[in-house]
Amino acid sequence: MVKETVTHLDPYVPEQTLADMKKQYGLASIVRLSANENAFGTSPEVAKALEKWHFADANLYPDSNVETLRRNIATRFNIDETNLLFGNGLDEVIELLCRVILEPGDEVIDPALTFSEYQLHSQIEGAKIRQVDLDAAGTINLAAIKKEITNKTKMIWICNPNNPTGTFIPAAAIQSFMTDVPETVTVIVDEAYIDFVDDKQASMIELTKQFANLVVLRTFSKAYGLANFRVGYAVCGEPLMGYLQAARLPYNLSTFAEIAATAAFNDQEFVKRVVATVSAERVKWQHFLTKQKLPFYESAANFVFFKAGDADGLHAYLLKNGYLLRNGLKPGWLRVSIGKPGDNQAVQELIAAYFN
Ligand SMILES: *Cc1c(COP(=O)(O)O)cnc(C)c1O
Repeated sequence: MVKETVTHLDPYVPEQTLADMKKQYGLASIVRLSANENAFGTSPEVAKALEKWHFADANLYPDSNVETLRRNIATRFNIDETNLLFGNGLDEVIELLCRVILEPGDEVIDPALTFSEYQLHSQIEGAKIRQVDLDAAGTINLAAIKKEITNKTKMIWICNPNNPTGTFIPAAAIQSFMTDVPETVTVIVDEAYIDFVDDKQASMIELTKQFANLVVLRTFSKAYGLANFRVGYAVCGEPLMGYLQAARLPYNLSTFAEIAATAAFNDQEFVKRVVATVSAERVKWQHFLTKQKLPFYESAANFVFFKAGDADGLHAYLLKNGYLLRNGLKPGWLRVSIGKPGDNQAVQELIAAYFN
């Protein structure tokens, strides 16, 4: 009745709505620090831009080419407008890449741990996953990945910074890695959290001009605070871009989404403020975890992954107190999204109280 591959999937478990959770736990408020959302909202320019939209256009299909947003992004990154592909969230782009590239029996190299969507969509296409462990510091191990490449390898996923560990690989290391990867293997660098990295030369976007088998992914859901609007994009060259364009859904971004993303993209001051606050709060989190003797990975993103011993017990205790963290990614570990300073402090005090 369905594709064989779909009968044994480990699907992504989405966040429960906050309204449902409040009801279930009898809480007046819950602060969600489990989905790496932007705790500081989005740019105030987004609401202003949306207010100017004409409701009379509701019956019209949106611009299939997303021209305005496309022009703005291409200009800032100094790339050709034709090298951009938009998706209804980055999730859709990840799905499309798997759909276009993979055939049953192909091999996909996927770090363990990393973002679960890569494996999910690869499996739906019938590909075989070769998992490569992170190194001891929780970083994606490029040397080990290189050794796993066979003549069946079609795709390699590199989440940078990596979700959920937060660890980051410098651009030079990925560039050198690219020169060793056969051209028949597509390397996908997911830069969902790249705005949070202190190193401002971290992105691989420029290198898509040099490597036709390199795809860089970005989203508006994290640093830009637009998770609800579902806007993500890929940067890559030909011939892959042409195939992706041919296979994508024709109207996958609403005009609302385009207006919101364009306004957010053009308020870089907002992003800078968020990144500066997150960076300062990340330092405080890491100091706190060190003091508590709770092991964690060095994060370059807006979350920290730490080992909590009785992680499920701590998770339940924090939730009872109105704070939701992410569990279930690795036994004994929790991921906390960096929140507003007051919330970070409150969670840290609760963790200290739980263990002491
Ligand atoms: C959040 C996230 C995404 C998905 O982003 P959307 O644009 O909201 O679909 C993709 N990759 C990674 C690593 C993420 O953490």
